[in-house]
Amino acid sequence: AKEQGRNQMLFFEKRMNASAMRRLLLPNYLRRAVERQEFEVYYQPKQRLSDLEIYGMEALIRWRSPDLGWVPPSEFVAVAEELGLIHEIGTWVLRTACAKAREWQREGCRSMSVSVNLSGKQFQQQDLDATIAAVLEETELPPERLELELTESSVMLHPEESALALQRLKKLGVSVSVDDFGTGFSSLNYLSVFPLDTLKIDKSFVQAMTNDAKNAVLVEAIIDLGHKLGLAIVAEGVETPEQREMLSSYGCDCIQGYILSPPVDAASFKERYLRQG
Ligand code: C2E
Ligand code: CA
Ligand code: CA
Ligand code: CA
Repeated sequence: AKEQGRNQMLFFEKRMNASAMRRLLLPNYLRRAVERQEFEVYYQPKQRLSDLEIYGMEALIRWRSPDLGWVPPSEFVAVAEELGLIHEIGTWVLRTACAKAREWQREGCRSMSVSVNLSGKQFQQQDLDATIAAVLEETELPPERLELELTESSVMLHPEESALALQRLKKLGVSVSVDDFGTGFSSLNYLSVFPLDTLKIDKSFVQAMTNDAKNAVLVEAIIDLGHKLGLAIVAEGVETPEQREMLSSYGCDCIQGYILSPPVDAASFKERYLRQG
């Protein structure tokens, strides 16, 4: 048993070293990834529950590093923010996603909205609306087809500035959704003050819902609250029919999650969801 414990210790140390090493090297690899264009945009479908229509897609960045393999956004987006690389990367995602949506529209594919995640740092950028306006003009994507996803925490960091920034974004004709709703610890009054369109219920609620009655109550209450404020509700992280049925019975508008599909590359998305129609 002593021997086994020792082996486990060694194993643990090795893993610690590997992950510490990775964190140490990440900034350099990330800078190089920007230069070498190692990123790709994947798309995940969103479905309306009333008619089961796939009405939109969320753009999610993917990084395949030749040295580190796949690095998830949860690992590198924060680093990109620290290094000041997020503006370049974020604008690239925006341009790529808008161009793809426009390309599919031109090809006569059925109408789809595209959602793009904005990090807190991007949202704080003074000329964000100008950047977005430029991308819309360049790609010729109709603004009503673009949705921006912002987390509660990035909106609530500087509420007054955020209100103004959101107004500028809304003037462009795009819509705005609150991502990961329920995970922040902010007061709720911003929901009635800010010009928002959609609440995305965080997947932690959706996943706790089916085996925890109190969580189910919370989800139902969030849906009612959102609706009373005139917001559409999207539940994210929906994996099982049971979760979908429950959300449907609560009046949730739309779902997103592995039950439909994980995020996939553009070619696969087109093949599966955009053939004619
Ligand atoms: P998010 O915006 O909340 O995106 C949803 C995440 O949940 C995605 O992870 C997606 O792959 C995952 N997901 C989707 N359906 C399911 C499901 O049914 N079950 C489970 N367990 N997970 C599901 P991903 O792609 O790893 O992204 C993680 C986060 O990284 C995103 O969370 C978002 O905050 C950030 N992110 C991703 N792409 C971008 C980007 O282009 N720009 C910025 N600023 N952030 C991004
Ligand atoms: Ca999102
Ligand atoms: Ca989310
Ligand atoms: Ca999330």
